[in-house]
Amino acid sequence: MINIGILAVQGAFIEHHYILERLGVKTFEIRQLKDLKKGMDGLILPGGESTTMGKLLHDLELFKPLQDLIQEGLPVLGTCAGMILLAKKLTNDSHIHFQTMDIEVERNAYGRQLGSFFTNALFGDTEIPMTFIRAPYISKVGSNVEILSIVNDRIVAAKEGNQLATAFHPELTDSTYIHEYFLSIIKAR
Ligand code: GLN
Repeated sequence: MINIGILAVQGAFIEHHYILERLGVKTFEIRQLKDLKKGMDGLILPGGESTTMGKLLHDLELFKPLQDLIQEGLPVLGTCAGMILLAKKLTNDSHIHFQTMDIEVERNAYGRQLGSFFTNALFGDTEIPMTFIRAPYISKVGSNVEILSIVNDRIVAAKEGNQLATAFHPELTDSTYIHEYFLSIIKAR
C-alpha cells in the first residue's frame, strides 16, 4: 500500500491529503525528524511561503535528510512554493533550497501574467484546471527536464526523473489528475 509523506511545517498541506484520500492513498504529515522513520513511497512539498518553509526545514533538521531522500530517487511532487524548494536556481532570490531539480525558477511573478488566477490548460495532452496563487514559473530547464505544461508562454509544470513540479496548486481544484500522475511515477519506480 502506497504511503505518502506530506511536508506539513507551513502552507497548504491538508488539501493534498484530501485529494489523496479521495484516491484511496494513505498519507502522513512530516513535521519533525522522527516522522521520517515511518518511511514513505512519495513526498509532497506543498504551496505556502518558500523562504519560511526553507528556514523551518533547517530549524527542524529536516533539510538534509529530505534532500538525501530526493537525491536517492524518492518520488517528489513540489507545488508552487514546493517547486521553489526543488529548484537548482532562483532568478530573483538569494535563498535557494534543495537544488535537486535542474530548473531555474522566478518567484512571485505576482501582478504580471502569472500572478493569482484560475485557468484550464494542457498538462501533457490533457486539459486540467489550474489555480495559480502568487505563482512562480520556470524560466529555464536543464536537458533532462521534461516540460509538461506551458501557460501564457511560461513553463508551469515539469518533470525530471523522480521529481515533478507545478507552479499551480493541483490540490485546490476538483481534479485529481496531477496526483494520479504522481502516483504513476511512484508505481513506476
Ligand atoms: N509566492 C510563494 C513563495 O515564493 C509561493 C506561492 C504559493 O505557494 N502559493 O514562496
